[in-house]
Amino acid sequence: MQKSCQRCGRRISTDDWYSFISTKYCRTCAADVHREQKANYAKELRRKTRERNDLTRQLCKEQQQELETLRQLLAAQRDRNRVLTAELEEAKHR
Ligand SMILES: [Zn+2]
Repeated sequence: MQKSCQRCGRRISTDDWYSFISTKYCRTCAADVHREQKANYAKELRRKTRERNDLTRQLCKEQQQELETLRQLLAAQRDRNRVLTAELEEAKHR
């Protein structure tokens, strides 16, 4: 059975109905197409990985900022506690 390559239009012959249905390209084009598909897949994979890493870095940065804010609040609260404890001691001795 005969059909034409979807890429270059060259006639290709297939042995049976199954390969008639499944064959789209001549040998040369099939190799090119598969190489292109593989390259696109790898490119897409790299893009997704980069996106994930960017997100992770962003979340990390935000948590770092939140941690810094909490540290400052804790330091302020400790200072307040020190003042209150001192005032309490003073009141006891009055
Ligand atoms: Zn072809």
